[in-house]
Amino acid sequence: MSDYVKSLMAEVKAKHPAEPEFHQAVEEVAESLTLVLERHPEYKTAKILERILEPERVIIFRVPWVDDQGDVQINIGYRIEMNSAIGPYKGGLRFHPSVNLGILKFLAFEQVFKNSLTTLPMGGGKGGSDFDPKGKSDLKIMRFCQAFMAELFRHIGPNTDVPAGDIGVGGREIGYLFGQYKKLRNEFTGVLTGKGLNWGGSLIRPEATGYGAVYFASEMLGTRNETLEGKTCLVSGSGNVAQYTVEKILQLGGKVVTLSDSNGYIYDEEGIDEKKLQFVMDLKNIRRGRIKEYTEKYKNAVYTRLDPNKDHNPLWNHKAQCAFPSATQNEINGKDAQNLLKNGIYVVSEGANMPTTLDGVKLFIDNKILYGPGKAANAGGVAVSGLEMSQNSMRYPWTREEVDNRLHIIMKSIHKTCVDIADRFGTPGNYVNGANIGGFLKVADAMMDQGVV
Ligand code: NAP
Repeated sequence: MSDYVKSLMAEVKAKHPAEPEFHQAVEEVAESLTLVLERHPEYKTAKILERILEPERVIIFRVPWVDDQGDVQINIGYRIEMNSAIGPYKGGLRFHPSVNLGILKFLAFEQVFKNSLTTLPMGGGKGGSDFDPKGKSDLKIMRFCQAFMAELFRHIGPNTDVPAGDIGVGGREIGYLFGQYKKLRNEFTGVLTGKGLNWGGSLIRPEATGYGAVYFASEMLGTRNETLEGKTCLVSGSGNVAQYTVEKILQLGGKVVTLSDSNGYIYDEEGIDEKKLQFVMDLKNIRRGRIKEYTEKYKNAVYTRLDPNKDHNPLWNHKAQCAFPSATQNEINGKDAQNLLKNGIYVVSEGANMPTTLDGVKLFIDNKILYGPGKAANAGGVAVSGLEMSQNSMRYPWTREEVDNRLHIIMKSIHKTCVDIADRFGTPGNYVNGANIGGFLKVADAMMDQGVV
């Protein structure tokens, strides 16, 4: 670690203790940026990175609501407006009991670089609540979403801050949030993305993050003249990102053998085909069941309960060539990374945000595998959110082919940026440096142009 990163990290940790995920995200980016700051001392003098580290604004609010039994419930609501140098704040809302300020700051920080990489004019933000939607009735979810938006509405707007979904926030929640915003503001605008198709949503938005992560993997494989055809893939999660990751892998001729949720994972040696994927989509999106039920329907598959006392996750300990972590942060630790390498995995495309710990990332880079970090590999979701904003502004929807084509072009462009920048800064094949530096440069130049604000 350079002296610059050491002193920066000491300052960040002293100022913002108890935010380990934020420290982790900053350290990874700062390590990459030392290469830029050596060549461009003007960024250092203007304290661009130090400014990017501090959110432009953090909104924390009380979300009181009444449950089905008439009991008063109180959750915490957050919106981190991280950086608006290149466009309105943009980033998802996460509803999960683990949500806290540090986790949302790490996500908002990553989002700044990711959005910049998409080539679209979007700043970075993130938000959410410690509300747990799991097992709750539609009515409870609606009440909570309305209470959450009763405060958030005054801080967001189509030219100010445009939230989307993330863990625990899918089409249903975006619908309730949008309805409440429209009622309070009395205006129909593209203030949220991930909307329903017949009220301003974009085709391909639900598919975009998963499809994008697979397009990114294909681009990485292309650098070795290979394709996904015939490759065995490990996928974690079974939510939005995981489902469409599986769909695209199947379309491109790959085989998927795992899926998971927070209770455990299934291993299906025969492969999860289109029919089985439809079962998972129905299980997760309609019946809102657990992944364990897969093995009740498909008897040859094996379910393993997640054991938090284990030092590794057995999902990552199967023979395959590709891995698509698509559940949550830090789901691949150093031991898991070792297991992946031992089992022959040489492509990791991160659908989730920061799913790999710093020691795991180091192992992937040292072993020179094709490792696509989340801020590049999963940028397809926010990219199509940006395309949804464009369609809303024009009041003209594009066809499925048009949006998918644009998504594909954007993912190719992000991949090319990563490769070119990694080369330019003397670390060929290092997608982490490529993504961090590529995302940083555009934001940094905009901040230089706009003065100290
Ligand atoms: P989702 O639809 O809510 O699905 C999340 C999946 O991950 C579920 O299967 C969930 O299992 C599992 N999961 C969540 N927390 C977990 C934990 N602590 N341990 C183990 N499993 C856990 O969310 P999503 O939209 O697919 O998001 C997945 C990841 O992709 C997140 O890191 C998110 O930030 C990232 N991402 C999403 C988008 C997007 O467009 N949606 C874009 C970019 C990045 P349970 O059902 O048991 O909770």
